[in-house]
Amino acid sequence: MELPYAEPYKIKVIEPLYRSSREEREQWIKEARYNLFNLKSEQVFIDLLTDSGTGAMSQYQWSEIMLGDESYAGSTSFFKLKNVITRLLDMPYFLPTHQGRAAENVLFSALIKEGDIVPGNSHFDTTKGHIEYRKARAIDCTIDEACNTAEFHPFKGNIDLGKLEEVFKKYPSDQIPLCIITVTCNTSGGQPVSMENIREVSALCKKYGVMPVFDAARFAENAYFIKIREKGYEDKTIREIVKEMFSYVDGATMSSKKDAIVNIGGFIALRDKSLFDKASVFNIMYEGYLTYGGLAGRDLGAMAQGLMEGTEFDYLEARIGQVAYLGEKLHQLGIPIQLPTGGHAVFVDARKFLPNVPKEEYQAQTLAIELYVEGGVRGVEIGTLLADRNPVTRENRYPQLELLRLAIPRRVYTNNHMDYIAAALKNIWDRRESINKGLKITTEAPIMRHFTVELERV
Ligand SMILES: *Cc1c(COP(=O)(O)O)cnc(C)c1O
Repeated sequence: MELPYAEPYKIKVIEPLYRSSREEREQWIKEARYNLFNLKSEQVFIDLLTDSGTGAMSQYQWSEIMLGDESYAGSTSFFKLKNVITRLLDMPYFLPTHQGRAAENVLFSALIKEGDIVPGNSHFDTTKGHIEYRKARAIDCTIDEACNTAEFHPFKGNIDLGKLEEVFKKYPSDQIPLCIITVTCNTSGGQPVSMENIREVSALCKKYGVMPVFDAARFAENAYFIKIREKGYEDKTIREIVKEMFSYVDGATMSSKKDAIVNIGGFIALRDKSLFDKASVFNIMYEGYLTYGGLAGRDLGAMAQGLMEGTEFDYLEARIGQVAYLGEKLHQLGIPIQLPTGGHAVFVDARKFLPNVPKEEYQAQTLAIELYVEGGVRGVEIGTLLADRNPVTRENRYPQLELLRLAIPRRVYTNNHMDYIAAALKNIWDRRESINKGLKITTEAPIMRHFTVELERV
């Protein structure tokens, strides 16, 4: 019998969880105005709100916290991180930042001007925010297959080369400062981009004089998918694949709260000295001096260690295996999810799950509330609330997909927790026909309403 994978670590410290009753949860979610962001984390049994900054650090990372060198300039921890980034990504220049959006803020300050066009694959919301804040425009060039949850495609994060070339032909290259390849593509469900696609997008960018840049938050999970799904890569190590991926881009922004398995941190990696010099000015203004970038020395050390651990095959196999385990369970129960499952989350198709709830009553949010009340599990709505209103007409924008995202923190929960989540969803699935009322908004902010919106049951 072939031995299955098992987590390449064991548990040394535990954080107790409170198992609340359904009555308590009914009360708490009402007090939270049916907005899961308003809950206290102690009111949540299993927290799948995000995989960002919620991972469990290793004993080696905690050792780096103790070894942190808190010198203002030139700290040992900075050089540890610099060495790791040079070794792993083969990028000569890097700037630490306090998280991913800070890296975007600094790099885009150096690159993007009003009226610019930034093509890419389903830009992450902070990325898009930093583009639009500069009065530039993000154009989504993701392949159409990404929007069909039932269709199996191994690389649903891929960029459609036809769509991309159309953008390149339509606008002059001095209006397109960069093209962003998000690996893995968070917005379409943690879906990977193939090496072939990265190579071709890079070649097309070079042909039209556009700089290819990674939004690299989950670069290691992307490399894992290339290894197991793309021909020619099965015998390469994750780090060889990572190096090849980065050889096709000239820069990257990184949220280290994802694949570097730290609770806070980020960075920019660059190939070009003059762009590095330009970005350095903004880094000093917004983040801090070049050798700490808004972080403590200890954070830099933990990040360096986390980058090494996050690019180990055995870790990634267990990590992505756990996401697939939950996805497989739900799929077998007949529950509609985005297939195949991506790297960091399972996305439940709420439109198919709750067809009797009108779309005006927020299907994915309704499902998220049902799941919380059923089992104390907190997911997050990726649907109409998040899509917000049309800024001109103030009408709701109904996105192509209405999803409930269950993001799995790294090295935190066991597969018994996954079984529990599946059972809670199964109970809702069994009574889905009777769920025909959703929610209505009582209070909302003019922009980014999903964080603070208040609702009540219809
Ligand atoms: C999380 C994330 C960001 C933003 O990073 P923060 O660390 O949350 O600021 C950018 N892009 C992607 C793809 C992300 O997942």
